[in-house]
Amino acid sequence: MASQSHSIISASAYLHLKPGITLAKRGESYTLGLPTRGLIIDQPLQVQMIRSLSGRQSLREISRGLMWELAPLMLFARTLVDAGCVDASLLPLEPASPKHGDLSAELIRARTTSELTLLTHRNSEGDGGKDEFANRAKLRILISGETRLARHLLIAMHASGFTSTRLIARAHLPHRLTPDDVCGLVVRPEDIGKLRAAFTDDFIRGAQISKPEVEVGITPDLIISTVPIEWDYVQRWMSEGSIHLQINQIIGREIEIGPLVIPGQDPCLRCVRLIKRDNGTDVSHEYIRSEAPTAAISYISGLIALAIGEYFATGQSPLRATSHWYDLLSPLRVPDIRHWNFHPECGCQ
Ligand SMILES: [Zn+2]
Repeated sequence: MASQSHSIISASAYLHLKPGITLAKRGESYTLGLPTRGLIIDQPLQVQMIRSLSGRQSLREISRGLMWELAPLMLFARTLVDAGCVDASLLPLEPASPKHGDLSAELIRARTTSELTLLTHRNSEGDGGKDEFANRAKLRILISGETRLARHLLIAMHASGFTSTRLIARAHLPHRLTPDDVCGLVVRPEDIGKLRAAFTDDFIRGAQISKPEVEVGITPDLIISTVPIEWDYVQRWMSEGSIHLQINQIIGREIEIGPLVIPGQDPCLRCVRLIKRDNGTDVSHEYIRSEAPTAAISYISGLIALAIGEYFATGQSPLRATSHWYDLLSPLRVPDIRHWNFHPECGCQ
């Protein structure tokens, strides 16, 4: 993404420290940053300037107050933005007093703030993560296969601002929810018997931060599959050029996430299957549809939603041409990673 800091920083901009950024005294100097990394600040005027960054005074006003010329102050402000320490706004920050009366607007504000608090640290654009967050609503994402994991992922996506995410059932499921659908965090026992489609619409409404206001295209920007591979679907995604991410079934104690396939650029799912065949890997269990336990579902759906956020924000993903195996009985262990190549028998290149 192109840096916008130079357009955001002007004499009339209001700067404030990003959430989590502090100015801490270390001996004779100060450190500005997160507990894990920061900038050394050793000029008293710079320290005073940082202390003025509450978002209530413009840079011009701070310059006057400190009697520090505007040009060098602006230069220092740009350093702070580029170091990922501050965000800028064209309007002063509103006081953080609770508003009464419009509960819906207050709810949207509170939920959006918690998303932006993280996104603002992705880059040093100085826009507080607003661009990245707004862009999410424009992306059409399909979750292929209705499983308990798919529903949790759907919620995580909507709650993260991917409000044009839809669930595609794929298999012929009963019209009404059954005991197999129950999973503590989304479908409760009392939901059994509810109409499947209406229930899904209802929980999307509850999960999404706000209603999508933008028109999204018909072509999906990403398809995520949570059910065993069906080759006619894969063929269609390949011929239509649809980017897709495969999440395999839990086999034993592990789940394989990936690869993310950009048709024509990355080895496809058939390449992966042919390489597994060549290696003598038994893939018979990959074709058996199964449901994951609740804690694994929460873990994986959160992980995937964050990884998709990373992909759309940066255009890159460690899941391209790669599978990650997570050991769900040793969840804090670094996953086993395997990179895939194009297979000569496949012809997808
Ligand atoms: Zn291939």
